[in-house]
Amino acid sequence: MARFTYAPAPESRAVVDLKPSYGLFIDGEFVDPVDGDHFKTENPSSQEVLAEVSSAGPADVDRAVAAARRAQEQVWGPMPGKERAKYLFRVARILQERSRELAVLETLDNGKPIRESRDVDIPLAAAHFFYHAGWADKLAYAGLGPDPRPLGVVGQVIPWNFPLLMAAWKLAPALATGNTCVLKPAETTPLSALLLAEILQQAELPPGVVNIITGAGGTGAALVAHAGIDKVAFTGSTEVGKQIQRILAGTGKRLTLELGGKAANVVFDDAPLSQAVEGIVNGIFFNQGQVCCAGSRLLVQESIAEGLVDALKRRLETLRLGDPLDKNTDIGAINSMQQLDKIRQLAASGEAEGAQRWSPACSLPERGYWFPPTLFTDVVPAQRIAREEIFGPVLSVLTFRTPDEAIEKANNTTYGLSAGVWTEKGSRILHMASRLRAGVVWANTFNRFDPSSPFGGYRESGFGREGGRHGLAAYLKGTFGSDRA
Ligand code: NDP
Repeated sequence: MARFTYAPAPESRAVVDLKPSYGLFIDGEFVDPVDGDHFKTENPSSQEVLAEVSSAGPADVDRAVAAARRAQEQVWGPMPGKERAKYLFRVARILQERSRELAVLETLDNGKPIRESRDVDIPLAAAHFFYHAGWADKLAYAGLGPDPRPLGVVGQVIPWNFPLLMAAWKLAPALATGNTCVLKPAETTPLSALLLAEILQQAELPPGVVNIITGAGGTGAALVAHAGIDKVAFTGSTEVGKQIQRILAGTGKRLTLELGGKAANVVFDDAPLSQAVEGIVNGIFFNQGQVCCAGSRLLVQESIAEGLVDALKRRLETLRLGDPLDKNTDIGAINSMQQLDKIRQLAASGEAEGAQRWSPACSLPERGYWFPPTLFTDVVPAQRIAREEIFGPVLSVLTFRTPDEAIEKANNTTYGLSAGVWTEKGSRILHMASRLRAGVVWANTFNRFDPSSPFGGYRESGFGREGGRHGLAAYLKGTFGSDRA
């Protein structure tokens, strides 16, 4: 298929005011670390160093937790919900006002296409604050008891795939319910959280209500093990999630875990195929496949498999990989060398174990971390590429003959975060949705998010829900949220 040549359309990075170095955001101010160090954050599409960032040590974690405790007991906890709501509305509006700056910064630090940070990450982050602002003064009517009380101080650790959006998912419900927060962004993507800290200052959020401590895994470990927090909310790998669960066992602290996934995207022979091709592409190539709920296993009914794979290949040939700041770019950079190595290793295992590898012709930039959109056919369930989370732009295609076989294959995973069903029949959608062991099931679409819709998994994908009324329960005392600890 012919690919049109587009003139470059780069978004200007002049809107972003990058500082050479950043402190920790504790008690409403940017401060130097007491016992921590510094590290550099780079642009994964060019390996250019963007800024130096502070790494919080144990004494810094202590300071942040103490500030959050003071703020919770003296200011934020006693504050009426309708007053808290005003701050959340203000943050949401500033996120909208500064959306271009946030989108460019997110793309610089993460490597994702500007089209995605501009149209998905930032608007959804603002939507989460708007949505939860609406709840802050209505908690008594949420069906969670007549006088729901906050837990206290919450420790929150987030990953690098949706840096600002994950910060919003964590902070907005915690704040709406009267908790205060200590948030640790991922080591490779701290910058949008630090800009959010500036936005919180601009919104005149009382000091200590949100504290943002940057650092690597050690900082996260010190935070989750800190005696002064009442709850941990974590999004990241299943491996680290298990470690955190072991640390918190027996402490009485509440815990929610949002971990990995290996979602099945199931396409029946009566599905609208052109629409399905778009959904499959969005399901696995959105954010370079670095998405916990990515549709990384495509299950196609055998009778249409050949035609669908051909259509998919034609579509992949039209994807544009390159400068993430270019508004025409579909596939940006992989977030880090470490992640690129993991994707390469798993893709190599797919070939070694007998699957057929295919990528469209596309040249990769010389600098930065890149992986072409990749499709594997002749995949069988025992292969690593059918079982393990690749977290990259790699799709494994399997086939099935009957709905029962599709369900069995889809559920044949240790994970249970999301799934997709493509069919014209409403009854089949309902039948599949009730039997797929996944927290979210999309029908004739994929990767749709809304703050009012609870998100979370089963089994090794974690527990607890984020978003919606269920997400509020995870931050309130004595509620029957789906978190357990
Ligand atoms: P991690 O789980 O290591 O990172 C998630 C967050 O936890 C980061 O902020 C990280 O800090 C922090 N962290 C790391 N170790 C600890 C610890 N012992 N205690 C507390 N916090 C900790 O994920 P990775 O970045 O290493 O990615 C590895 C794999 O995880 C990916 O390849 C992917 O398969 C999966 N993943 C899944 C995600 C999801 O949304 N479900 C998101 C990200 C990754 P730091 O970044 O500084 O190390």
